[in-house]
Amino acid sequence: MAISYQDRDTIAAISTPPGSGGIGIIRISGSESLQILKHIFSPHSKNCNYRSHQMYYGEIVDDKGQRVDEVLAVYMQAPKSYTCEDVVEVHCHGSFIVLQNVLQLIVDHGATLAEPGEFTKRAYLNGRIDLTKAEAVIDILSAKTRKGVDLAQEQLAGSLYKRIEPVQKSLAHIKALLEVAIDFPDEDLDIVDYLAVRKQVSGDVVEPIQKLLAGADRGKLYREGISLVIAGLPNVGKSSFLNAILQEERALVTSVEGTTRDSIEEFVDIMGMPVRIVDTAGIRDEVGEVEALGIERAKELINSADLVLFMIDASRAITSQDIQLYEELQHKPMLVLINKIDLVSTDNRTVLDTSFEFINPNIERLHLSAKEQNGIDEVRQAIFATVTSSDNQWEEDGCAPNLRHQKSLQLAVAAAERIIEGIDVGVLSSDLLAIDIQECLDQLGDIVGETTTEDVLDIIFEQFCLGK
Ligand code: GDP
Repeated sequence: MAISYQDRDTIAAISTPPGSGGIGIIRISGSESLQILKHIFSPHSKNCNYRSHQMYYGEIVDDKGQRVDEVLAVYMQAPKSYTCEDVVEVHCHGSFIVLQNVLQLIVDHGATLAEPGEFTKRAYLNGRIDLTKAEAVIDILSAKTRKGVDLAQEQLAGSLYKRIEPVQKSLAHIKALLEVAIDFPDEDLDIVDYLAVRKQVSGDVVEPIQKLLAGADRGKLYREGISLVIAGLPNVGKSSFLNAILQEERALVTSVEGTTRDSIEEFVDIMGMPVRIVDTAGIRDEVGEVEALGIERAKELINSADLVLFMIDASRAITSQDIQLYEELQHKPMLVLINKIDLVSTDNRTVLDTSFEFINPNIERLHLSAKEQNGIDEVRQAIFATVTSSDNQWEEDGCAPNLRHQKSLQLAVAAAERIIEGIDVGVLSSDLLAIDIQECLDQLGDIVGETTTEDVLDIIFEQFCLGK
């Protein structure tokens, strides 16, 4: 894929986020980058010879010789740059107006405005990174937790690519074997050892792809996270629990029933997973209008949540209202939180636990005190354990394919399995098997960007922000 794109436009964009900051950086990429810089930049040093990867101090001046900003400028000669093209970065003062003025000047001298993600797209088109690495850049920019960043960094370092490449090589090898037979159809059976092909497809193709697929669900969890709702009657301690898990006072905590009028949403990092927690309004039958609105929304949120934390108050007996609410929610994956254990003796705790056991013996119950911050960590662990599967495949290989990769991997493994089935039922035809080998290769090629269509590329790069 390493093609030289000398005839591409030179593009430019503000690469730092909108708003004011200490500095703001404008990036230019393309063959005209250095010429444009020379037109607008007045270096302070007399012997500025624009050595690659060297910072120069000076001023950006407009065509009338007016100073636009005091800057640092750097030229990075192709191919040693982010895009593999000639790149210039101008480090200005971080004011949006200043940055706009400098960008306008750059455009006046021949650059075009970059599309979102265009710099990274060029890095990909120029063969510096494969598509999984380009996607890793998006993931780094949008990760909500440290674990999410770690995961994306591994992908950027090639973790996924390195796992796909050997499978492609095995497939290419099998394909070559079959092609010999296609050329000599009469001797097909003598030339091809179909049992060896079967073994290779199973061990070198199906197995590694299935391992990668096992990591996809976890990848989704770390990338997108889950949504979780705290439900329970008023005053059981939902807001207190939310505060405890956030470790800061954000929700309104009160001992008057029904004051958490609407829902409150927060993001927490639970063992590396971004979790959106929603504290619902107290759900009761007879309520005022404002609360009723909150309750409607609470029901919607509960329905769309991945997990419900159903909270009861350990200091009072389970009421028919608790049971009624529990029954409304029991279709969802759920953890039962028995809160306020600081108010009850261990004996009473057992009584409450037993009464819940009577309602549903299988459901996981956790005891805690939101007020005294006891048992919160156990709740975090239980949330994590509930939403992750028991196998730790992902932890071992550090690969987490995204949804796009997952779809291609599924199609690839299906094609590989067709080959095995074909051989098992005695379809010993190199032509037919070669079709599935090719399908498998194409799907893997899509993942790393060798055979990806323009539409898919557009969808991927549209996810980037401007200037990246
Ligand atoms: P919500 O209506 O379910 O959101 O309940 P709140 O979080 O507003 O709590 C209601 C009352 O119970 C407040 O007075 C809290 O201080 C109190 N509370 C919450 N959790 C605990 C707990 O674990 N132990 C004790 N003793 N009181 C708690």
